[in-house]
Amino acid sequence: GAGQGDLAPEIWEKVKNHPCYSEEAHHHYARMHVAVAPACNIQCNYCNRKYDCANESRPGVVSEKLTPEQAAKKVLAVASTIPQMTVLGIAGPGDPLANPEKTFKTFELISKTAPDIKLCLSTNGLALPDHVDTIARFNVDHVTITINMVDANVGAQIYPWIFYKNKRYKGREAAQILTDRQMQGLEMLTERGILCKVNSVMIPGINDHHLVEVNRAVKSRGAFLHNIMPLISAPEHGTVFGLNGQRGPTAQELKALQDSCEGEMNMMRHCRQCRADAVGLLGEDRSAEFTTEAVMAMD
Ligand code: SF4
Ligand code: SF4
Repeated sequence: GAGQGDLAPEIWEKVKNHPCYSEEAHHHYARMHVAVAPACNIQCNYCNRKYDCANESRPGVVSEKLTPEQAAKKVLAVASTIPQMTVLGIAGPGDPLANPEKTFKTFELISKTAPDIKLCLSTNGLALPDHVDTIARFNVDHVTITINMVDANVGAQIYPWIFYKNKRYKGREAAQILTDRQMQGLEMLTERGILCKVNSVMIPGINDHHLVEVNRAVKSRGAFLHNIMPLISAPEHGTVFGLNGQRGPTAQELKALQDSCEGEMNMMRHCRQCRADAVGLLGEDRSAEFTTEAVMAMD
């Protein structure tokens, strides 16, 4: 896991109060997500659009969709109830950068009303290069990119299609565009000093061995953490690999992969795959206290 020992001092300074990056902080500081981003610009074979994006959240949970104005109100309500609230993330339920107006309007409102709250977002990376300047302008200091492959042959088994520049692409061509855009976006962010974490979903038989190569590729482009998450396999979550469905990795397989990447860079092991409208300390979910109805009734 990430701790002071593994990270460069300037990175530690930035992440020490961030519950998602520091094991210490995750007991003392809270984060929340607002679900303002319903649309997505790619299809992952493990996704079911009824549920939250696996970019950063536990699949199989439906979050409430909010307008940017509702989201800003909710952030203020939560911040006044949970004083340890230091981080606001936008992570779904679709892709935040496939909904740029909503995502950036939310950041704009929050940076005006609650300038101390740190902003972060997670994305599949397809639209990332187009938005790096805006991300920098809003002082977003943490971006998470979900990167499951750097090889279009692997990618073609994970992504049936992408929607890019008003056109649908399929197969290897789609995967090649996606990986090029992810790598370009990652480089652009790290060049500007914006911290980047990479999430990967481990899919046995599809990208499990390949993730060691992904680890090298993202490390060489300046990602500061790599978080390998197990595929959560259940038909209702949309795992449509193969005819008989796709299993997730065992705990031993996951650990073996994390160990084989460990020498390369910081691995994140304390991640809880949290939902797109999570509220509270990590591992705690107080989202039920802050439904849209409850928040809109507050003054
Ligand atoms: Fe689903 Fe997220 Fe993949 Fe989009 S990026 S298809 S919302 S898992
Ligand atoms: Fe943490 Fe990720 Fe949410 Fe940011 S987007 S608060 S890093 S879980």
